[in-house]
Amino acid sequence: MKKPFVTLEKVKEICKEHKTPFHLYDEAGIRRNARALLDAFSWNKGFKEYFAVKATPTPGILRILKEEGCGVDCSSYTELMLAEACGFSGDEIMFSSNATPADEFVYASELNAIINLDDYTHIDFLEKVTGSIPETICLRYNPGGNFDSTNRIMDSPEDAKYGMTYEQLEKGIKKLQGKGAKNFGIHAFLASNTLTNEYYPALARLLFETAVSLRDKTGANISFINLSGGIGIPYHPDDVPNDIYAIGEGVRKAFEEVLVPAGMPDVAIYTELGRYMLGPYGLLVATAIHKKEIYKDYIGLDACAADLMRPAMYGAYHHITVLGKEGAPRDRVYDVTGSLCENNDKFAVDRILPEIEIGDIVCIHDTGAHGFSMGYNYNGKLRSAEILLREDGSWELMRRAETPSDYFSTLDITGIFDNE
Ligand SMILES: *Cc1c(COP(=O)(O)O)cnc(C)c1O
Repeated sequence: MKKPFVTLEKVKEICKEHKTPFHLYDEAGIRRNARALLDAFSWNKGFKEYFAVKATPTPGILRILKEEGCGVDCSSYTELMLAEACGFSGDEIMFSSNATPADEFVYASELNAIINLDDYTHIDFLEKVTGSIPETICLRYNPGGNFDSTNRIMDSPEDAKYGMTYEQLEKGIKKLQGKGAKNFGIHAFLASNTLTNEYYPALARLLFETAVSLRDKTGANISFINLSGGIGIPYHPDDVPNDIYAIGEGVRKAFEEVLVPAGMPDVAIYTELGRYMLGPYGLLVATAIHKKEIYKDYIGLDACAADLMRPAMYGAYHHITVLGKEGAPRDRVYDVTGSLCENNDKFAVDRILPEIEIGDIVCIHDTGAHGFSMGYNYNGKLRSAEILLREDGSWELMRRAETPSDYFSTLDITGIFDNE
């Protein structure tokens, strides 16, 4: 059974200062998990995790990960600004973008970030807009076809907009060598939210074999392999969690079998995990404010899809705990909804739960990654606060909730209010 990392008593204390809804993050869990990842890959001298900023673009979180030795993976102008503000620089920043605007390449190159090129044509584009080609550069690979591990198809890269073909990688490296590039990385992101210990090892083997072949054909120094994101988390209580040590060991085995015999034992392994780093360590905390009984029974929360889009957008399962009723009989079936004028604004459909009273505090689990950050302002809904539950049980407001003036700040309507 899934347990929230916080008690009703603690949430009640927090609610005296900050009203629901808010996203709450678990510092202890974030640190424990980051340390386990680094430990699982400690066999690789150059290993580095570049946290995918888009998952949780919050300075309070980025600083914790920085203290744990992580870098950041950015893909937009403001994500680069956040990285800079949190003290990341140079090769602590991976810039993995696509359809990249010129000013983003310029900024990434000013920060000396490692630039990960999504396409062959971006070589000329990058040189044109920044005036140079860096010595160290990464290329994103799309192998096409279906990507499968031993027993199942994981995804279909041939339908994905990302990356370049093998021929383009080879041509690209030669072209970049001609422009002064010396060290190369190869990157691929072929499946998302994978719940199998086989994904990373299978991806690693493919990229290692590709790297050996590219080295043979171009003589290039391939200095790192970027396995990107994609390790999943158990959203459903029946899901079997990944074992990061089994994953690290699987990648090590592929490394020993492919790169070491090819005389490439110094290649560094990089990752750009987002969901795996933060997903389980965030909760959306909300209050039940309405009960409605028509053809079905509904619980209306003060949170809505603007606070967590995944159920509405992907039909994603997010577990729900009614705080203080963890041991109560689960003898009710509810649709748990938000207040948007959108019928897909439902955190859960036909969910078996204990009886919920108005005023009950409800935790929606696993919202730490791609939760707050996918929020939006539809229906004029305001984004919630983000609060960090520290290791010592105290808490810190990392981001205040939006107010109407934040929502109106891009309009020039002062005159309209003045007339009222
Ligand atoms: C989104 C993204 C990630 C992180 O993905 P997760 O599924 O959260 O691990 C990493 N790299 C790139 C380039 C991405 O776009």
